[in-house]
Amino acid sequence: MSDALEVLNPATEEIVAVVPAATRGDVDAAVVRATAAQRVWAAAAPADRARLLRRFAAVVDGHIGELALLEVREAGHTIGNARWEAGNVRDVLDFSAGGVERLSGRQIPVADGIDITFLEPLGVIGVIAPWNFPMPIAAWGLAPALAAGNAVILKPAETTPLTALRLAELALEAGLPEHLLQVLPGRGDVAGDALVEHPGVAKIVFTGSTRVGKRIMARCADRVKRLTLELGGKNPNIVFADADLEAAAAAAPMSFLDNTGQDCCARTRILVQRSAYDRFMELLVPAVEKVVVGDPFDENTQLGPLISRAQLDRVRSYVTDDLTVVRGTAPEGPGFWYPPTLVTGVDPTAAVATEEVFGPVAVVLPFEDEEDAVRLANATEYGLAGSLWTRDVGRALRVSRAVAAGNLSVNSHSSVRYSTPFGGYKQSGLGRELGPDSLTAFTETKNVFISTEA
Ligand code: NAD
Repeated sequence: MSDALEVLNPATEEIVAVVPAATRGDVDAAVVRATAAQRVWAAAAPADRARLLRRFAAVVDGHIGELALLEVREAGHTIGNARWEAGNVRDVLDFSAGGVERLSGRQIPVADGIDITFLEPLGVIGVIAPWNFPMPIAAWGLAPALAAGNAVILKPAETTPLTALRLAELALEAGLPEHLLQVLPGRGDVAGDALVEHPGVAKIVFTGSTRVGKRIMARCADRVKRLTLELGGKNPNIVFADADLEAAAAAAPMSFLDNTGQDCCARTRILVQRSAYDRFMELLVPAVEKVVVGDPFDENTQLGPLISRAQLDRVRSYVTDDLTVVRGTAPEGPGFWYPPTLVTGVDPTAAVATEEVFGPVAVVLPFEDEEDAVRLANATEYGLAGSLWTRDVGRALRVSRAVAAGNLSVNSHSSVRYSTPFGGYKQSGLGRELGPDSLTAFTETKNVFISTEA
């Protein structure tokens, strides 16, 4: 190991930990160990693999409080959110464990013999995770990958390695074989790139920015390496005049403010039918102003700091002085604080309305009718998530089908459930995570024909 990663508490700017950064040589050594561990794991009885993953889930469950505290310290997440995130790791492990003994191939009718398919593990999987949801996103890759018979090398983001390191320890405590799940904190362009490049890594699961995702896709192309990409979003929240406006306005603030807006599913484009615009704003503005921003350890806090000074500078750069804004409050002093912010009267093609800000900032844009709403919703290179609010069930279905995004919700902002598929259209990603097919994404289909005529 060389080099070191300094982990800062984003609420105080204090150093929480210094973690050695993995080198390319460390990645090489980890792949050798993972390859050996994977062979043994894949050969184990499915029931035993399932049992070990359930035990891993149970050990995580016993450490929810500890994992949540780590997440608050290294990522500035509110304590309530951090507990949910640790619970999500447990749930994804449990759900994936349930798939181990159901990962069946098929028997396909053919002439002169029997045709069967096998879903075989890929081998060693590289999971490259971002800092915005360090624990859940790591679990969405590692849990189904292990369940399908693979080994995993997880590279957490530079700023948030601590929960990942702890999860690897808990896996060992649960009895998972050594080296089956390895965590290598390190820099993206060193350890991340080494995983992408390594011929012994069969698939990369990447969550992060579209910019880095495109680069990784190009690097994977050289080896035709399997790849899942979960990238950015600029998600619409479409409010029709026939909606329950009180409910839509009450739900809108946290749909873009949760996790301080550092959420690829954040509903940061609030599209409101013009005939209801004034009434909706009367309801929305006070709802945004009263959001509680402050100490993430306080149970009442709804919004913590941004992850880093770089992220704070990035968010500031989008909200320029010429824009009309409504702001909530944020603490003064140390920490990477930015207030909840609504931007109105902006052109739909402005940077703040089209680019992923990844902070507590939403634009509000009026639309005329259903056609106009769909046009505006789709006027983005992204297609991850979106919401629509209406009492008209026909419209709900028409608009859900017309919006080009992977995860839509009607009269709700829910995007992520471990039992349903998650992923993006267009430049929001490639492939899906979670849901009923999550294990299949970590297998190769082998077809075998056996002649009955010989
Ligand atoms: P990032 O792209 O900078 O980094 C993500 C990860 O990739 C980190 O672990 C980083 O070290 C690594 N990395 C960076 N350069 C690399 C390289 N050349 N080769 C290999 N790995 C490399 O993103 P971030 O700043 O950590 O996360 C924020 C972004 O992630 C946002 O744009 C957000 O929308 C996106 N995101 C998407 C989803 C989704 O599911 N679609 C979920 C969370 C975050």
